[in-house]
Amino acid sequence: ASKQKGGSCFTYFTPRMQEHAERRMLLSNDLRLAISKKQFFLEYQPVVNLQNNTVFKAEALIRWRHPEKGVIPPMEFIGIAEDNLLILQIGQWVFKTAIEQCRHWRESLHPAFQVAINKSPVQFVSEQKRQQDWFFKMAQNHLPGDMVTVEITERLLLDANPHVSERLAQYRRAGVQVALDDFGTGYSALSYLKKFPIDYVKIDRSFVRELGSSHEDGALCQAIIVMAHSLGMQVVAEGIENQRQLDMLREMGCDYGQGYYFSPPLRPAAFEAWHQAWNKSMQVS
Ligand code: C2E
Ligand code: MG
Ligand code: MG
Ligand code: MG
Repeated sequence: ASKQKGGSCFTYFTPRMQEHAERRMLLSNDLRLAISKKQFFLEYQPVVNLQNNTVFKAEALIRWRHPEKGVIPPMEFIGIAEDNLLILQIGQWVFKTAIEQCRHWRESLHPAFQVAINKSPVQFVSEQKRQQDWFFKMAQNHLPGDMVTVEITERLLLDANPHVSERLAQYRRAGVQVALDDFGTGYSALSYLKKFPIDYVKIDRSFVRELGSSHEDGALCQAIIVMAHSLGMQVVAEGIENQRQLDMLREMGCDYGQGYYFSPPLRPAAFEAWHQAWNKSMQVS
């Protein structure tokens, strides 16, 4: 057992914690080879326009097919990859793969198709220094910026890095849109976000989950939507799992939605099938 510095409480290194630390270390080693061994793949979750039911966008979500441990979700390895900076290479792979997919879907699904790509603060800060991120590569390859919505978190904005705002503005000039992910879980007030060029606020799943439960009247979601709109931002609700949540959000004027109620994240072929079925059902009704 070890005593925490300056505190009166003791923390014990339990077998579970040890297991956790060991798994992290093993994964960290395996992660180094995962790109060259082509063990990553992306799934895409549709982003539905709640006002007219169109779908022109999908969020790319990474998964790791580990040879022994099976498919590992991002929550288990993104943090490790941030610590050892492998996130930089992983992020490059994600962008390259998602943009390639988007080019294809602009031809086969819709000419204005977009992908939303998650980007951690670590990537943002380091890549900006080296001027070598996908953003420059896209320009070099004459790819339009409006293919991409980049999803960032409040963590990035709270660093108060003076380059961040400038960089986001640079994205916007190139047509890239910016979404603030997991809104409501961090510390920033919406008004604080006014100084950043943000196009979308994504209401965190935890608030959407409460919608339709007995004590929740949706005041929080409603407040976020009203405030975001008044600041000129659009709103995406994540984690919509039932009709009631969808109805409430629509009623509140929420612009976009994602969630298992529409579709879980899907491999490209399954996404195409889903998209086709979706468009068909929308024409009928
Ligand atoms: P996120 O960007 O907030 O993504 C939403 C997460 O919610 C995804 O989990 C998605 O599968 C899940 N989800 C979507 N709809 C529902 C629903 O209706 N109910 C429930 N319970 N969950 C739903 P996932 O794919 O495990 O990703 C977790 C997080 O990992 C993401 O959260 C994002 O922060 C991070 N991540 C994923 N891919 C990447 C990536 O390529 N790069 C970086 N830096 N982070 C990534
Ligand atoms: Mg996201
Ligand atoms: Mg999110
Ligand atoms: Mg999230």
